[in-house]
Amino acid sequence: MLTIGTHMSIAEGIVKTAENVVKMEANTMQIFSRNPRGSGYRSYSAEETERFLDIKRDKGFGPLLAHAPYTMNLASPRETVYEFACMVIKEDIARMDALEMENLVFHPGSHTGIGTEEGIRNIIAGLNGAITGEEHITVLLETMSGKGTEIGASFEELKAIRDGVEHPEKIGICLDTCHVFAAGYDIVHDLDGVLEEFDRILGLDLLRAIHLNDSMMPFASRKDRHATFGNGEIGMEALLGVLRHPRLKELPFYLETPLDDAGHKEEIRRIRELLEDRQGNYEAEG
Ligand code: FE
Ligand code: FE
Ligand code: ZN
Repeated sequence: MLTIGTHMSIAEGIVKTAENVVKMEANTMQIFSRNPRGSGYRSYSAEETERFLDIKRDKGFGPLLAHAPYTMNLASPRETVYEFACMVIKEDIARMDALEMENLVFHPGSHTGIGTEEGIRNIIAGLNGAITGEEHITVLLETMSGKGTEIGASFEELKAIRDGVEHPEKIGICLDTCHVFAAGYDIVHDLDGVLEEFDRILGLDLLRAIHLNDSMMPFASRKDRHATFGNGEIGMEALLGVLRHPRLKELPFYLETPLDDAGHKEEIRRIRELLEDRQGNYEAEG
């Protein structure tokens, strides 16, 4: 069964968010681990957490994903920025683990001039200060578009981060279709080739989540602008190819597109329909 959801607001509390997932006819979700542009967060009471987990269990949600704030830059050479990032990743791994989120994804960061190697050293040190090895949650590195001095636009850089940490078994990967396309991985014409490369460098068993976005920007542009499903440079056929790929189809898919809940509900319904259609055609062709 397809596991699909969208990025959801937690403004009205985590229980309301889970209820909205059900209304949307989705079976997973992504939420921010805290205010994405600031530093604040709300603590969840034991009762609230219990109600949230009840819905998750009753409705059979697939793996849930928390997203660290954009203001968190673990690669930064600036002390205040770096110390803030180290604090946030440590707190949010613990908080999201307590909420029984299966995965927490973060943008590796931007080195802002000190170079990739030095930036990666900072990321590794930050992760080592945050991951105890006792958590259930897996920390996912997101594949990035490579804008500016962003780290993580190549599978090699993600591997270097994972290889450097004390608990690599707690590190997985979240593949963002918009980002890898913008970074120059041709998932439109050669999805198999891209996945083979991923498998050779990182190992496909590390892939835990897919951000299912189309791209407003062209191939290898190193620019990060999400488009809604099928309405960008990647296109519907290629995105359906991602959804039905035998090595990917069991993974959870998350839409990060600028639609409201009603729009996303419609989008998910359409994706399910398109997938069924396709299967029908294949069966008819034998
Ligand atoms: Fe992201
Ligand atoms: Fe993403
Ligand atoms: Zn993006």
